[in-house]
Amino acid sequence: MYLNWVVPSYWTTSESLQLENEIRSAVENGEFLFHFQPVVSLWNGELYCCEALMRWQHPEKGLLAPEVFLDVLDDTGLITSIIDTLLDQASNHREKLSKKLGRDVAVSVNLSARLMNDPAFCRGLLKRLVAREFPLESLVLEITEDTLTRELAEANEFLQQAKNLGAKIALDDFGVGQASLSHLRQFPFDLVKIDRDFISNVHSDANDANLVRAIIQLAHAFGMQVVAEGVETEQQLAFVRAQGCDYIQGYLVGVPADSGQVVACLSAGRNGSLLAT
Ligand code: C2E
Ligand code: CA
Ligand code: CA
Repeated sequence: MYLNWVVPSYWTTSESLQLENEIRSAVENGEFLFHFQPVVSLWNGELYCCEALMRWQHPEKGLLAPEVFLDVLDDTGLITSIIDTLLDQASNHREKLSKKLGRDVAVSVNLSARLMNDPAFCRGLLKRLVAREFPLESLVLEITEDTLTRELAEANEFLQQAKNLGAKIALDDFGVGQASLSHLRQFPFDLVKIDRDFISNVHSDANDANLVRAIIQLAHAFGMQVVAEGVETEQQLAFVRAQGCDYIQGYLVGVPADSGQVVACLSAGRNGSLLAT
């Protein structure tokens, strides 16, 4: 687990600059790393993929959540310097998992809107993947709705290329952003991830329950599969399962942890089953 050390809104300019400087040296010192969280199939109970989630191993404050540093990393463009770390750790994790389970397991990575709208970054990313011999059919690229509200041309071309090479494309945090439903028909997403905000109240809020039900039906009508995020209770699991949801991700089936811990938790004998079906 990590510390949720949030940047206070009353920070002065000099304090923000100090954070930016700290982040710059953290990038140089290689203090950013990735934890992995399982995404489990509701059809067979098996591990479908692991999502790579960034952490900052701060020398004094311990392990910090993206909430503390992601905006600064993204706004300053420093995030591009971490992409090799991401691809190396994702690639190692995928190999270890696949070896342990004796079958291919995918890894999913988050791409910010800023990165997706940078043509040089997109071209470089494909080259880096090919150079690592990363099997693209074992890669899920997660983008958020704000990527779609910007100029679509570059992002669209990159996503289409990645898809042609076998990668799966997921629309992350569906429902909380600004995207219009027409984006669902503009781009052939493979997966839609329903935000935790909607899942957490499916038992107490009829509107949230209706919304989750409708999103699952809508995504399925477009031929897309659905991941329910932030599933923490058996009740939430039962609800999304009854609605025909395809995958779940959440503390009920696994918290984000370092690669070694995730691999150690999986029992090869059960083919990576994390859930009874
Ligand atoms: P996300 O992509 O929606 O990732 C899921 C977040 O939900 C993660 O938070 C995960 O730890 C948390 N989560 C998963 N299951 C549960 C649950 O059952 N209960 C609760 N309370 N939380 C759960 P995390 O790791 O703090 O990441 C926050 C966000 O930061 C991510 O949200 C993603 O938008 C962003 N992020 C993380 N890593 C990266 C990265 O490498 N690149 C980019 N661009 N964004 C990243
Ligand atoms: Ca995500
Ligand atoms: Ca999400």
